[in-house]
Amino acid sequence: MSSLRFKAIETVLNRTSVKVNIPSTVVSDYYNSRVFSDAAMKNFLDKEAYEAVCSAIKHGEKIDRKVANQVASGMKNWAMTHGVTHYTHWFQPLTGSTAEKHDAFFEPTEDGRSIEKFAGSALVQQEPDASSFPNGGLRNTFEARGYTAWDPSSPAFIMEGENSKTLCIPTIFVSYTGEALDYKAPLLKALNAVENIVVDVCSSYFDKNVTKALASLGIEQEYFLVDAAFYNARPDLMLTGRTLLGHLPEKGQQLEDHYFGTVPPRILDFMVEFEVECYKLGIPLKTRHNEVAPGQFECAPNFEEVNLAIDHNQLLMDVMDKVAVKHGLKVLLHEKPFAGVNGSGKHNNWSLITNTGVNLLAPGKTPHTNLQFLTFFINTIKAVHNHADLLRASIASASNDHRLGANEAPPAIMSVFIGTQLTRVLEDLISPKAKAALKTSKTTIDIQKIPEILLDNTDRNRTSPFAFTGNKFEFRAVGSSANSANAMIVLNTIMAEQLKLFKTDVDAQIKKGKKKEDAILEILKGYYTSSKKILFEGNGYGDVWVKEAKKRGLSNIKTTPEALNAYITPASKKLFADNNVFDVRELDARYDIMQESYVKKIDIEAKVMAQLATSHVIPAAVEYQTKLAACISSLKAAGVQKSLYSAQLEMVQTISKHINNIHEFTKKLVSETEKAHHIEDTHKRALAFCHKVKPLFDVIRNASDDLEFMIEDDLWKLPKYRELLFIK
Ligand code: ADP
Ligand code: MG
Repeated sequence: MSSLRFKAIETVLNRTSVKVNIPSTVVSDYYNSRVFSDAAMKNFLDKEAYEAVCSAIKHGEKIDRKVANQVASGMKNWAMTHGVTHYTHWFQPLTGSTAEKHDAFFEPTEDGRSIEKFAGSALVQQEPDASSFPNGGLRNTFEARGYTAWDPSSPAFIMEGENSKTLCIPTIFVSYTGEALDYKAPLLKALNAVENIVVDVCSSYFDKNVTKALASLGIEQEYFLVDAAFYNARPDLMLTGRTLLGHLPEKGQQLEDHYFGTVPPRILDFMVEFEVECYKLGIPLKTRHNEVAPGQFECAPNFEEVNLAIDHNQLLMDVMDKVAVKHGLKVLLHEKPFAGVNGSGKHNNWSLITNTGVNLLAPGKTPHTNLQFLTFFINTIKAVHNHADLLRASIASASNDHRLGANEAPPAIMSVFIGTQLTRVLEDLISPKAKAALKTSKTTIDIQKIPEILLDNTDRNRTSPFAFTGNKFEFRAVGSSANSANAMIVLNTIMAEQLKLFKTDVDAQIKKGKKKEDAILEILKGYYTSSKKILFEGNGYGDVWVKEAKKRGLSNIKTTPEALNAYITPASKKLFADNNVFDVRELDARYDIMQESYVKKIDIEAKVMAQLATSHVIPAAVEYQTKLAACISSLKAAGVQKSLYSAQLEMVQTISKHINNIHEFTKKLVSETEKAHHIEDTHKRALAFCHKVKPLFDVIRNASDDLEFMIEDDLWKLPKYRELLFIK
């Protein structure tokens, strides 16, 4: 009987390429074709409805019932021309994925026929049975109602299946009593907070024409692809998203021949189809390439407004998954699917942009615009400095723990990289020479020089969790499977908070009679000096940095249960409440959900590990051992002298040692899991899973990987790393 592993190898070797249907060689022919875009709205809405939606998007104005009916009807008509039969509110509950519940347009009529209907009320609000989404105790079962509410700022789109077409309406998801149960609701609030204060700062100090600002986000998405046949033969990948076992391949990424290398043909077919589907949905994918590890790839869209960028990223992950199936592939979005091989991240490129078209994090050409740049640049540094622990918490998850702080990924220590040129600019700013210069004239500070030097774009540091990259900050520590909303909620809230403090500080100086420019510079210098310790230009992956960071008093929080604590400190509660992002109840609930989710993930891993050890690893080891024992017996019976089969004897013993170890530690794993489950307090339970359960994985894994290395290849039934990573 051949095992799944060998059947999978055969399947993979027999794969042929899948034909991709490309609508047109000109992307603009079909870009946005599945989106209720501005063009579609103009076509399908009357003037009143169109303008109402536009002002809802631009100014957040409410849409009344009459207009909602018109919009719904137009949307339905547009969707039906595309063969759509159903609609759904599309939302992002705290499970981490997206949720949909489909309703048909069709409605039976009294005369025994039916019509297609979509009322404004169904567009604006829905009440999915919400009791089975994570809610952290926010909803008692007797009032298990939550509702979804339309977010007009993210356009509706059509999801296509092989045999279905569904109109998806992006929505927020809140409890009946108004608490957020999703990512989008608090995100919109955080964006609102930062956008308001950016407008305030810009219009007060730099440009009266600034009446609107937005935070921008471009998400680079890393992922692995493995063949579906191998995936299906690895219960650990299927159930936990990562390999719990697996001996490192003889060839890994040490040759560094994968990065930017030729994309294998099958993978390219997948990428092409995936891009076509994204373009139809208006996801502006720009780049595709191989990543550092074998089997690892990356795509990146053009940046968009944060809320839209996140919806698009959530959608993109979904599309990726569906397209992969057609190509016999499986996408792995886990941060660390393979131990010992590079992990995956989701780099969040973030900036602030005004309605006047100015990127506030792009150095300007004149001293005046440079002062504006320095304002937002230094305030970001200060915000990260003041709230580093919160930023760390925003990217914490069981899966990202494998990446942060491991040797080949951004460290769990939050720091900011700005490059040598800007470091020099900031140092000049606070040097005594600059002080003297400032006294005589407000423009003598040499900041005009910034644009020229900055053209040198090679000043990069791939080891920093939060790096300035020329005209934006790149938050690189976000995990590949995460919803970026968590990181963006925190980043935009701390920025809003920081800018408010800045405004207060500068206004106080101005009130005392200081000139505006001098006041701003004075405050910025103070901020720079007081937040300097968060700046680090060296190798973030090295041990030296760990020691240095400790000396500087920077946190290095390695595990999720501990990192999450930053969310519920009195300071954080005040911060989120002051900026109208989360109230205390919401924060407490979210904290609980995240701790609970950590527990669930480790618990599942523990169960899968125990299962694999018992039903795969030990039987394979025993089988090989039996073969060896039989060999020894026959050699002995034949009178062969013992020294001639000492190797077999030694192997039998080693196998026994490993089997005993695996057996013993698997029992321990089961009992520690049991014990941990009995702990009442969620945080303490998560800590037990983290420190008592999880470390046992390594012991079992090491023994298993040794066995995999030594036993006969045919007897090993789980696809090996070399197969998962190299057979394409
Ligand atoms: P890299 O060298 O890091 O690949 P890119 O210029 O290609 O840099 O940018 C990577 C991502 O950053 C892309 O998604 C891009 O759209 C995004 N990006 C560029 N400028 C901005 C900006 N001003 N705000 C937000 N994201 C941006
Ligand atoms: Mg980048």
